[in-house]
Amino acid sequence: MAAITMNHIVKKYGDGFPAVNDISIDVADGEFMILVGPSGCGKSTLLRMIVGLEDITSGDMMIGDRRVNDLAPRDRNLAMVFQNYALYPHLTVYENIAFPLRLAKVPDDELDKLVRDAASTLELDEHLDRKPGNLSGGQRQRVAMGRAIVRQSDAFLFDEPLSNLDAKLRGQMRTEIARLQKRLGITTVYVTHDQTEAMTLGDRVAVLKRGVLQQLATPRELYENPGNLFVAGFIGSPPMNFLPATVKGSTVELPFGSVEIPAEKAEAAAGHGLLIAGIRPEHFEDASVASSSGRTGSTFSTKVDAVEWLGNETYAYIPFEAPDEVRAQLQQLEKDLDGEGLRTQLVVSLDGSSRIAEGQDAEIWVDGRRIHLFDPSTGENLT
Ligand code: ATP
Repeated sequence: MAAITMNHIVKKYGDGFPAVNDISIDVADGEFMILVGPSGCGKSTLLRMIVGLEDITSGDMMIGDRRVNDLAPRDRNLAMVFQNYALYPHLTVYENIAFPLRLAKVPDDELDKLVRDAASTLELDEHLDRKPGNLSGGQRQRVAMGRAIVRQSDAFLFDEPLSNLDAKLRGQMRTEIARLQKRLGITTVYVTHDQTEAMTLGDRVAVLKRGVLQQLATPRELYENPGNLFVAGFIGSPPMNFLPATVKGSTVELPFGSVEIPAEKAEAAAGHGLLIAGIRPEHFEDASVASSSGRTGSTFSTKVDAVEWLGNETYAYIPFEAPDEVRAQLQQLEKDLDGEGLRTQLVVSLDGSSRIAEGQDAEIWVDGRRIHLFDPSTGENLT
């Protein structure tokens, strides 16, 4: 196993805008690193440069202490697990796992031991005589990983391995990959556009936008302290609400009223004029069922436009006006996030016990400690 170090990596196709623009990421030995971002952000290109399927325009790619920029893929000792698993349909599980060892002319008795050890680790012992066509998606994935294990690769690289599966199987496979990676302790880089996969699998997550690294942090850090508007909007479901805001003393003025915020947030955002506030739907509560005493925040009265009850939670939709000064920024942000245009309704996620109803007045409490304030021109999170 080995660490992977990307040092100021740039990739230009032709003379266009760089697909990967000066990215530096250190993947620690044994770490599970996620590369995530919307379509075209450069995540696959970056992975392909690690594995050697794409030339590096500039920068250094290190595996352990070897600079691999000019090494052929087969000499990098990495195992790429593709979306379709690339198994040989006419070979048994045993022969599929043994394949790289046969290529390397490993003697039969040693090969047999390596294959059986890998199969046992992956709980495939009972399926060694089967062909891939007779396996479940999960088992096929394990065979593909078995092939990587017998080669004693330095790292696993995954490119959207679950994107063709239905939601249920995707969930199962996600758990399985996480479990195996922990057990094997093998350095892993995993590309996805799915923020749920990113949040549940990654030790750390690198969020990319148009070839530029936006933030590299643990899933919790990304959720709690997103560095900019893009990361804030990308991580979380339903997505964070963005609203025009101005700070006055220790409160922030929002379209639906003023909200008390902690002093340090108010200080960090002071003197900035019109800002963009970010509030996650889950950081609102129905004031009629929740007690907010002793917590920093405020209750506001509003009319609710629409309500969706999901059993365990209730979504309420509340329209607001976005002033001209921040419209352009918010519109661009939605475009970057592959959204459907400017959102001018607040989405509030309440406990399922809420009796909030469409067209009626409601008392909503908002948690002032969880409000983020962003500079509209740079997108930076000031708080
Ligand atoms: P997706 O999720 O859609 O696969 P991605 O984030 O993996 O997207 P890349 O495939 O890495 O993005 O592409 C990054 C940018 O580089 C895109 O703008 C893409 O059009 C461009 N690109 C990728 N491959 C090539 C190529 N062979 N020639 C020219 N441009 C390319």
